[in-house]
Amino acid sequence: MFVDSHCHLDCIKLDEFEDDFDVLMQRCLAAGVDHMLCVAIDLDKYPRMLRLVQHYPQVSVSAGVHPMADPDKDVDLATLRAVADSNSVVAIGETGLDYYYDRLDRAAQQQRFRTHVQCAVDLGKPVIVHTRDAGEDTLAILREENASQCGGVIHCFTETMAFAEKALELGFMISFSGIITFRNAEALREVARQVPERHLLIETDSPYLAPAPHRGKQNHPAYVRHVAQQLAAIRDTSVEQIAAITSANYFRVFGRC
Ligand SMILES: [Zn+2]
Repeated sequence: MFVDSHCHLDCIKLDEFEDDFDVLMQRCLAAGVDHMLCVAIDLDKYPRMLRLVQHYPQVSVSAGVHPMADPDKDVDLATLRAVADSNSVVAIGETGLDYYYDRLDRAAQQQRFRTHVQCAVDLGKPVIVHTRDAGEDTLAILREENASQCGGVIHCFTETMAFAEKALELGFMISFSGIITFRNAEALREVARQVPERHLLIETDSPYLAPAPHRGKQNHPAYVRHVAQQLAAIRDTSVEQIAAITSANYFRVFGRC
């Protein structure tokens, strides 16, 4: 029923799942999560991530290095391209800019982001974009690197409608996380009401950002239902309708594998 368009399955602590990844997966599938996109954060941990999910056709994977990953995890275009040029990799990322934490200097983040967009355009795969306190630069780089040719998603969306409109012009999807369930997120809920249906996605970004009523706990894909419920309430429609729209949108952009 649901597609979780962005989660980090390999980062979820398994103690509440009998220390067994299969138990976590069964819990997600039983909760109606039919598909998950497991998003890479660096290339060191990547082989382990692939091993964990390899027996689950319900899980797709991306390849990339997160903007907040250490400087020594940096990646050049040829290396990224070699990893990502596989039928089992459906997207590039996550990448983007994070000026809130500023763990890596801005010029280095921008270069890393450009490398990812170039790879996505090169391989014709959508790019998964993280942006925090960096809206203008994020849009500028997407434009300069011709990201409309590969498309992609602004994940865990927390920006304004003005930003959303510019991302939509580039053909991007807008993915909402558990943040739309937070009490103080009224402005974001207004954006979530306005984004055109064909561009909507839902995600958990688990293990981070658990939605209400689980806020503060470890998140996992089964909780994507709460994001869908909130989005249905905001848009005055049913959870089933939100599930159908966001699942169809996901498979149109990321494909089936
Ligand atoms: Zn993420």
